[in-house]
Amino acid sequence: MKKYILILVLQIPISSLAQVNNDSTKSLFIEMLFPEEKTKALILSYDDGAKNDRKLVALMNKYQLIGTFHLNSNKLSTNSYYDYLNKEELKELYKGHEVSVHSANHPNLPDISKLEVANEIFEDRKELERIMGYSIRGMAYPFGNTNDTIVETIKRLGIEYARTVGDTYNFEIPKDFLRWHPTMHQFCKAYWEPNQPEKDQKEMALFYQTIESFLKLNELAVLDIWGHSWEMGSDQKKWEETEKFFKMLAGNSAIYYAKQIDLVDYINAYRNLKFSVLNDKVTNLSSLTIYIRANNKKYVIPSGKTISIN
Ligand SMILES: [Zn+2]
Repeated sequence: MKKYILILVLQIPISSLAQVNNDSTKSLFIEMLFPEEKTKALILSYDDGAKNDRKLVALMNKYQLIGTFHLNSNKLSTNSYYDYLNKEELKELYKGHEVSVHSANHPNLPDISKLEVANEIFEDRKELERIMGYSIRGMAYPFGNTNDTIVETIKRLGIEYARTVGDTYNFEIPKDFLRWHPTMHQFCKAYWEPNQPEKDQKEMALFYQTIESFLKLNELAVLDIWGHSWEMGSDQKKWEETEKFFKMLAGNSAIYYAKQIDLVDYINAYRNLKFSVLNDKVTNLSSLTIYIRANNKKYVIPSGKTISIN
């Protein structure tokens, strides 16, 4: 009796599960790998688009890191709360990075009507697309707040992922991209309240410990760090902390440095792989090259191709 058992680490359509009677027992363990067989992914996600983003992006570029920037289009080119970036500079500044929705005016979405939510997202998406010249499909919730009605509304407006501020301190791939809880705030909320040196020290220690745990891991992991460049403002010490953790994470051959939307597209393409009944063939219908590991053997599945798994 041979049995094929397919064990999946990420969600694969249930139809691909197959048990076939045969001569001996064989387990097929399939796991997603990130592009170029990498096992870790890093997302750096910054909100609000204050002018301090100029310094932040320069620092990311220095270490060849990739950021995702969630912007409020009606705040840009104003100094209504923070000193915001000018619309004219966005395209050049964020070259190689992702620009994403953060609502047009940064209201607390659960406090406004469904129609107003729709308008906030639609207007922001439309204006950011006009400025950047590409389709914008990601978002971060203003203040991190959401509910089921908001999720349903943004989904209908073409948003494919939305980040909260509910830090998980884990490295799991989110099950629901529209309720994407990040790993942690950039300094674990250190300096959030003024004059609390002891608390700051503890939070910074936790922050660096979490990064070190991520770097040590061998299994599939996503580190998603979020924050704002205005938090660093003109404080040299905080900029030095930023550079320190960028340096820790830079230039690592095991890490896939990703725009958040690219990671979403890749995982969706993996989840949409088509397996044969016997699990000995797999087809990649997407436009991306997909990397998997099956029974500890690595496979590359080019776009539009079917390969054999043995
Ligand atoms: Zn914000």
